[in-house]
Amino acid sequence: MAIRNIRTDEDEILRKVSKSVDEINQRILTLIKDMAQTMYDAKGVGLAAPQVGVLKRVVVIDVGGGLFELINPEIVKKEGEQIDIEGCLSLPGIMGDVKRPEIVVVEALDPKGEKVTIQADGLLARALCHEIDHLDGILFKDRVIKFVDEDELRKRRKG
Ligand code: ZN
Repeated sequence: MAIRNIRTDEDEILRKVSKSVDEINQRILTLIKDMAQTMYDAKGVGLAAPQVGVLKRVVVIDVGGGLFELINPEIVKKEGEQIDIEGCLSLPGIMGDVKRPEIVVVEALDPKGEKVTIQADGLLARALCHEIDHLDGILFKDRVIKFVDEDELRKRRKG
């Protein structure tokens, strides 16, 4: 396992559309392990393969309830809406409010190639949407309703 270099905004790879994984080989399994380690090391709650320079449809997410390792994830259902603050390991120093569905259903493959269906709400729904956006070259700042600076964040935490 290895920690990989997280690409930032200036890297045009973040704007490209990732390709589906058609064979879960050792390379993909190593990628997934490295991504999880890289995410935990950076204290993030999610990471998508393009963020480590690989244009494959792979994401890892852990919002505190355990690790999801998802291959070819797809949102098959969205319901309701929520507005909350978001950030991104590829966009250090930028935060903002983003509107996301309150509930999503995501279908994907796990590292064993088994189909998994995840029904998620709240932060996990938000993280799934954010990471799957990365696979289509979309960054959260494209969807920001209002950018939030440190002062504003401090005020909100107090209130
Ligand atoms: Zn991100």
